[in-house]
Amino acid sequence: MIKEFRVKTNRRNELIDITGEIRSVIAESGIEEGYCHIFVPHTTAAVTINEKADPDVSRDISGSLEKIVPPGWGYSHAEGNSDSHIKSSMVGASELVLISGAKPVLGTWQAVFFCEFDGPRSRKCLARVSE
Ligand code: ZN
Repeated sequence: MIKEFRVKTNRRNELIDITGEIRSVIAESGIEEGYCHIFVPHTTAAVTINEKADPDVSRDISGSLEKIVPPGWGYSHAEGNSDSHIKSSMVGASELVLISGAKPVLGTWQAVFFCEFDGPRSRKCLARVSE
């Protein structure tokens, strides 16, 4: 079964830790061993796994993407958010996390981050747990 949860973003570019939501989805599924597929159904957002211990890391990822793909560079897309679409494709719309002992298998410093590139908005995130 696919679970959906909302992610409220506060800035145009921002990484938000959604590991707690993923832990809840896995716990509710009752599955002990398997995997959780996380999918972001948006064209200007993404999902990634990276360091949570130092919040500067997620700020640096966001800030570096902003430098690599600057807004207002002279893109064709009339909506004016081509940089957001490009960042979304660079990072990707899905992640797969293994499950062991009814918990996500993540490294000590890892967290799952929802990546906002055209906020602030109320976003959707989908997750499906399988054996
Ligand atoms: Zn657009």
